[in-house]
Amino acid sequence: MKKLPLVAGNWKMNTTVNEAEALVRGMLPELDIIEGVDKVICPPFVSLAAVSSMLQGTSIATGAQNMYFEDKGAFTGEISPLMLKQLCKYVIIGHSERRQLFNETDYMVNKKIKKAFEHGLLPILCVGETLDQRQKGQAEETIAKQLTNALDGIESTGNMLVAYEPIWAIGTGKAASTDDANLIMNTITCLLTSIFGAEPARGIRLLYGGSVTAENFEEFINQPDIDGALVGGASLKPEAFTSIVKQAARAKEAL
Ligand code: PEP
Repeated sequence: MKKLPLVAGNWKMNTTVNEAEALVRGMLPELDIIEGVDKVICPPFVSLAAVSSMLQGTSIATGAQNMYFEDKGAFTGEISPLMLKQLCKYVIIGHSERRQLFNETDYMVNKKIKKAFEHGLLPILCVGETLDQRQKGQAEETIAKQLTNALDGIESTGNMLVAYEPIWAIGTGKAASTDDANLIMNTITCLLTSIFGAEPARGIRLLYGGSVTAENFEEFINQPDIDGALVGGASLKPEAFTSIVKQAARAKEAL
């Protein structure tokens, strides 16, 4: 089964609305004409409307960085899937910064995935181990637990994506080795196969995230089980992001 690679840029809590518009303006011409890869930009919530309107009619999709698991109500400060589905196609769920800084649990991640599916949003489910867990030899078991809990009660893959993002590699400049990434991708594939069955699981795109740069990405995207990247810091640099997207398209074009 041919899988289109996907590269998503997670801008995190960076850019004002004006800065977000300027960044999109700067990237758009070159990014728009790259074929053979799905391109996603995930700006902060307050810039989603502006960015999605700039990207209307282009080949670039938008995503949200998070969402709440209720449709509406007394949840001050939260953003619901009902609000998002007008503005974007993808939603990042369970990013390690949400888990670590905002106490997001596997239970909440599971509820968010279910809600995203209910409203036709495509979740990019993030999993990843801490340095301590890796050093104790618990990386695979941590990922397996996060994934099993996140997908509890979910029967269909719903075109979701899974991003493996070792926490020790995020924003540190220290990317995982491809051997480490491959081992975890294999764990994820086995688990997805046992949950959904071989054929549906094969359709789920697996992304690597954690200090991806234009310089180190080629090695990752040439791995057979890596279908793209979730990019933080480098997605704020038009030249680097465009180069990563081009590398993804090139690496998978012959498959
Ligand atoms: C991320 O935020 O998902 C991420 C991988 O960040 P960075 O690329 O900066 O490590």
